[in-house]
Amino acid sequence: MSGTLLCSRAEAKALGLKRYFTGKPCKHGHISERRVSSNTCIECGKTTYAPLARERASLWYYDNTDRARDNSQRWADSNPESRRAIANRWSSNNREYCRANLATYKARKLSATPPWVNQSDIIEIYETCPDGHHVDHIIPLRHDLVCGLHVPWNLQHLPAYDNLTKSNRFEGGW
Ligand SMILES: [Zn+2]
Repeated sequence: MSGTLLCSRAEAKALGLKRYFTGKPCKHGHISERRVSSNTCIECGKTTYAPLARERASLWYYDNTDRARDNSQRWADSNPESRRAIANRWSSNNREYCRANLATYKARKLSATPPWVNQSDIIEIYETCPDGHHVDHIIPLRHDLVCGLHVPWNLQHLPAYDNLTKSNRFEGGW
């Protein structure tokens, strides 16, 4: 609120401002700016009206899930750039999560993921992987002699360099 001019609604309107500040509390006790257009207190907007609007929006969502999904689909179809940007931002904020799911997807294609494996255990291994390390299959998934499984106990954190040199070698002492 710093730098806000003390003025009346009429004065703010005359100055072409969107907000004005009288220094007097609203009926809910906020000493806050008000909107010139609606005369409503900004704090009230945040604390009272915004949560109400959110609640209404989420109630609508639950009553109209299919329509909501259609709307987002339509939006995504007509805004491919924004959609890609959002997807990219999400996956870079959830990189390990994506990596874990991608690894399971690939392992599934090799039929290396038993159906009873708990994906959240696998995600945890990816999410706890220290910097400079990769998640490595102790017994490789694809090998001439043996086929490892994509299961938590066949996963280990390996320094990235080791993982690259190890490649698909398997030195099993079995
Ligand atoms: Zn208020």
